[in-house]
Amino acid sequence: MTQKTLILLKPDAVERGLCGEILHRFERAGLKIMGMKMVWIDKVFAAKHYDAHVKKDFYKSLEEYITSGPVLAIVLEGVSAVTIVRKMGGDTEPKKSLPGTIRGDFAVHSYDYADNKGISIKNLIHASGTAKEAEAEIKMWFSDEELHSYEAVHEKHTR
Ligand code: ATP
Ligand code: MG
Repeated sequence: MTQKTLILLKPDAVERGLCGEILHRFERAGLKIMGMKMVWIDKVFAAKHYDAHVKKDFYKSLEEYITSGPVLAIVLEGVSAVTIVRKMGGDTEPKKSLPGTIRGDFAVHSYDYADNKGISIKNLIHASGTAKEAEAEIKMWFSDEELHSYEAVHEKHTR
C-alpha cells in the first residue's frame, strides 16, 4: 500500500553534512519526496512532536538535542513507506543498529554512553513509527500547500 511518512534529519545529521547521503538512500530505494523544509524548532513544538516522551526521564536531553539546531523535515511517499523508512533508519540505539542502516552506518551512541553523559542518544534521524503517527506528524509539520503530488519516472517500477 502506498503511504506517506515524515522524516526529520536531526541537528547532528545537518551539522555533520549527512543530509545528502541520507536522502540519497531513500531516493534510491524508490521513495518520492513530497515536501521538504529546514526548521529550527522551539521547546513548545518539540513537546508537541515528542508528546509521547515528554514525561520520560530522558526528555530534557531529547528536548535539548532536537532544539539544538535546524532539522530537515521531509515527507516521503512510497509502497509501505512507514515500514521501509524505519527499517532503513535502524534501531533507536546506534550501538545495536545493523550495518547498512543509517544509524548503523553513521552513528555510534549507546544508552549507557548517553545516560553517563546526561545527553540524548544522537541517532541522526526521526521517522514516523506507524501510519497513524505519520498522518498526525505530517499535519503537524506541513501545510497542504507545502506537499506536492507529481509523477516520478521510476514509479513504473516501484508501484
Ligand atoms: P524517533 O522517534 O526520533 O524516530 P525512535 O522512534 O527510534 O526515534 P523513540 O523511543 O521514539 O525512538 O525516542 C525518541 C528519541 O529520543 C530517540 O531517537 C533518541 O534520540 C532519544 N532517546 C530515546 N530513548 C532514550 C534514552 N533512554 N536515553 C537517551 N535518549 C533517548
Ligand atoms: Mg519514535
